[in-house]
Amino acid sequence: MRILLQFPEGLKQKGLELAKKYEEEGHQVFLSASPCYGACDLAIEEAKLIKADKIVHFGHNKFVKTNVPIPIDYVPYYIDIEIRSLKKVLPYIKKFKNIGLVTTVQHVHQFEDMKAFFEKNGKTVFAAKSERATEIGQVLGCDAGALMKVKNNVDAIIFVGSGMFHPLALDVEKPVFGFNPNDKTVKELNAEIEKVKKRRKGAIAKALTCKKFGILVSTKIGQFNITQAEWAKKELEKRGFESFILIANEFDPMAINNYMEFECFVNTACPRIADDQEKFGKPVLNIEMLRQLFEIIDANR
Ligand code: SF4
Repeated sequence: MRILLQFPEGLKQKGLELAKKYEEEGHQVFLSASPCYGACDLAIEEAKLIKADKIVHFGHNKFVKTNVPIPIDYVPYYIDIEIRSLKKVLPYIKKFKNIGLVTTVQHVHQFEDMKAFFEKNGKTVFAAKSERATEIGQVLGCDAGALMKVKNNVDAIIFVGSGMFHPLALDVEKPVFGFNPNDKTVKELNAEIEKVKKRRKGAIAKALTCKKFGILVSTKIGQFNITQAEWAKKELEKRGFESFILIANEFDPMAINNYMEFECFVNTACPRIADDQEKFGKPVLNIEMLRQLFEIIDANR
């Protein structure tokens, strides 16, 4: 079989070892060297060009549910956490009874154990499934549905995982505590989440002065959304703004800023692109933010 292996950045270091395994099994192996950010980002074009029989996508579970023109094997990369180390979280949630629990794909295989731990310690744990995720309790940087669905039932939220990429998607008015399984530390994350929310509001305020909008459409299979882009263009033009749709696989700030006339970008791709406002040097609005911009404009007409 001709197989294209695809790894997120953090797993590329294991790429050769895994490639050899597939080769020893008699397959013809190719390695995708493109950056890979999520299961939204399948190397379909590369696979088609090399006539691969399938893609083996490491590090994520299934995200794209329809219209994938080639078989995909998803191989998540699970990292075990020491369940009893969750006791470090308990002092932080002492006064809360009902908690929402979320984690990332790396730890979701232990979600039931984590849940059982907090239940044994007197908590009622609420959990749900995000639309784009495969497992209960799993959040993605673009889909915190696992939390949003239970947010009204909970007093506090526990996020198990490292880094801020996922917690920044947890847009709730409840205390959020992050447990980092690597160094076993606990941190209240609300201040960081608030900072991002403020930055988004600042971007909307800046966009109020803009007249020329570039609408970003990514060709990544799980991010492609031309319908949304065409809606944005129509709505912008209805309000007297100039806009064009920009297509790329990945949006390099330098390359798109060579279209110097655009004053603001509307992002229909990975919503986390909008958190990198400073790299673009111009406001970047996700569709939700664009809707808020329209509300302000329409209210002031
Ligand atoms: S957060 Fe962005 S990169 Fe991650 S799965 Fe969602 S769209 Fe893809």
